[in-house]
Amino acid sequence: MSENWKTRTKLVHEGIRRSQYGEVSEAIFLTQGFVYDSAEAAEARFLKAGEDEFIYARYGNPTVRMFEERIAALEGAEDGFATASGMAAVNGALMSMLRAGDHVVSARALFGSCLYILEEILQRFGVEITFVDGTDLGAWRDAVREDTKVVFLESLSNPTLEVIDLQAVAEIAHAKGAKVVVDNVFATPIWSRALDLGADVVVYSTTKHIDGQGRCLGGVVLGTREYVRKTLEPYLKHTGGAMSPFNAWVMLKGMETLDLRVRAMTEGATMIATALEGDARLARVIYPHLDSHPDVAVARRIMEKGGTMLSLDIAGGQAAAFRFLNALKIVTISNNLGDAKSIVTHPATTTHQRLSDDQKQALGITPGLVRISIGLEDAEDLLADIRQALDAV
Ligand SMILES: *Cc1c(COP(=O)(O)O)cnc(C)c1O
Repeated sequence: MSENWKTRTKLVHEGIRRSQYGEVSEAIFLTQGFVYDSAEAAEARFLKAGEDEFIYARYGNPTVRMFEERIAALEGAEDGFATASGMAAVNGALMSMLRAGDHVVSARALFGSCLYILEEILQRFGVEITFVDGTDLGAWRDAVREDTKVVFLESLSNPTLEVIDLQAVAEIAHAKGAKVVVDNVFATPIWSRALDLGADVVVYSTTKHIDGQGRCLGGVVLGTREYVRKTLEPYLKHTGGAMSPFNAWVMLKGMETLDLRVRAMTEGATMIATALEGDARLARVIYPHLDSHPDVAVARRIMEKGGTMLSLDIAGGQAAAFRFLNALKIVTISNNLGDAKSIVTHPATTTHQRLSDDQKQALGITPGLVRISIGLEDAEDLLADIRQALDAV
């Protein structure tokens, strides 16, 4: 709407489409189809649909379109396509760009299902993948070739919160003509300007911070209009990964408070990580903006703040980590993140259970590692809860 609007204004107003009733809150257009005034009008719309013309909800829907425009404006992307889940977005972004014989370079530390798409699905269709340690720029330089089509990474990795120098990786990729696809969930669109840093395509699971209250699955792929309309949309609209209008409405409501929530959660995470550092019961406190983080210089350069996630390595291994989880009273055991409720996960036995011990070790997923998504509760209460659970260990 207005290029000059700042983030919070965009998050409340961008993309809104009002019906003839002038409703204040975005309407949920719970319809799969749309009617045409005449046979000629139907023909014309199938030939070329205008901006406010829709054909079928698998292709697009007014409520979904409002959400796509709002998040594209936030990210500074020309366009976007919303999907049924974050994984539909990752799959769509990659599958739409690749064909048999292509080469992809990816960071090794990935969300489990992203790893499955690269390692199992894409390779099955004849795409060659090279995995690298994402924080090792020399490894990226060695792996990216003249025929590399796509470079894939999570800007802030799960669960060890490694920070990849997206700007440097994008330079390496672009020098060889490869496109950079970034899964930016952990960094959030509030703290990371992935497109400005050189990403060509940015993917979010909107299930996380964007809904922010643990209700609906969703995803979105953002990029240039050319990419979204010519490459991505044909793939997604024919393979059926569309976001439901109801979920798009939930995401629109989530967007209104996204900046406030992410700021409050980040303030809590920063306070708690700082307070816990040096605690003898912890082998390590991992938070991107702590001086002790191995990638702190990169983190401070590419992320305005340290984000809403922190990881703790509890001295005493898995038994100690389980005692810690079971003793928490406010922080709940679950595997979502970016929620208003603080959530704790033991990656080695849940989200990363599938990996071999060697793979876990290579990724730094130790038996004592716990990942905490800081929510909207009072940070003093959360810190007290974490400390009493450490006492119980
Ligand atoms: C959750 C998540 C996904 C998958 O999103 P869904 O909405 O659960 O499909 C992908 N990447 C990252 C980094 C995630 O945290």
